[in-house]
Amino acid sequence: MLSRFLRPELAALPAYVPGRPAPVGPGGVSYKLSSNENPYPPLPGVLAAVEHACAGMNRYPDMGNTAVIAATAARLGVDHDQLAFGTGSSGVLYHLLQATCTAGDEVIIAWRSFEAYPIAIKLAGAVPIMVPLGPGAVHDLDAMLAAITPRTKMIILCTPNNPTGPAISHDDLVAFVETVDGRALVVVDEAYVEFADAPPRTIELIKNGTPVVSLRTFSKAYGLAGFRVGYGIADPEIAVAVRKTAIPFGVSLPAQAAVIASLEAEKELLDRVRLIVERRDVLLARLREVGHQVPDSQANFAWLPLGARTGTAVETFSAAGLMVRGYGDDGLRITVGEPEACELAVEVAATLL
Ligand SMILES: *Cc1c(COP(=O)(O)O)cnc(C)c1O
Repeated sequence: MLSRFLRPELAALPAYVPGRPAPVGPGGVSYKLSSNENPYPPLPGVLAAVEHACAGMNRYPDMGNTAVIAATAARLGVDHDQLAFGTGSSGVLYHLLQATCTAGDEVIIAWRSFEAYPIAIKLAGAVPIMVPLGPGAVHDLDAMLAAITPRTKMIILCTPNNPTGPAISHDDLVAFVETVDGRALVVVDEAYVEFADAPPRTIELIKNGTPVVSLRTFSKAYGLAGFRVGYGIADPEIAVAVRKTAIPFGVSLPAQAAVIASLEAEKELLDRVRLIVERRDVLLARLREVGHQVPDSQANFAWLPLGARTGTAVETFSAAGLMVRGYGDDGLRITVGEPEACELAVEVAATLL
């Protein structure tokens, strides 16, 4: 009965389906490969920095994220006013949508892509325009351009694309943005940028005044998913708008400390990223060897396009103690986790054919 108080958009909203906890297979085997998390413990120095920060938990964190912004700006070589932080890059996307869209505005996305996009777009009162991926599970950039209308406010490109894995090249992104020609803000979600061989040089584009925003996160490569920190890199005019819409004190005290300490452990971070990338390439190769068609993933996961067999395949993985993420009748995504988990995933995948 109280639904009369709710915005009508909410009734039509799909609820975000979080990754289920890992099942337990024979011999107690249990691995969660469903949320693209980092399998490693905190980087050196991070736990100590967080513990130290926790002692000050009676105080609010720095609302301006000053130290976090300074450390990140130095690392990326951007100005402080080109950064806006939030509770994960999902949080930043929500703020960006709130800052840009009003009822009836259109936001073009590829599909399948990140589950959170259509929800965030509809919550902002805008309309998601979902453009199917092309062959090889890549963004169909021409079709996305053709979908632009006078109501288009934003285009979100996810590269590497979650959940399928392929990345957009720098040249393709540049050509895309040139053709968009200022008709929409191009948001490049780079949640997995650390794992990509040759990601587009979005920072260069932003510095040149191109209407591009890059979204990044500490949840994946940096292993801070539980702390909820992400940021946007943008023209100062956009960045300040995101900061205006942001929830005050969104990035907690320990999260800010964890970010600063993680940025200082860059060598160890790069070592881990290299290991995950090597393991990913082995996983892709072995999945192909056993007969699966797997798109070229540039992220920390592999995509099995199993179509109508997806649901039963997820259950097969589950029975072996592996939690993977199924997507309707499209396919399933396997996160690159511990080496044993990847080997087991290949064994299970081989039984599916
Ligand atoms: C994981 C992910 C994010 C970031 O999530 P947060 O934890 O909110 O920072 C953003 N986009 C994509 C495509 C992701 O997969």
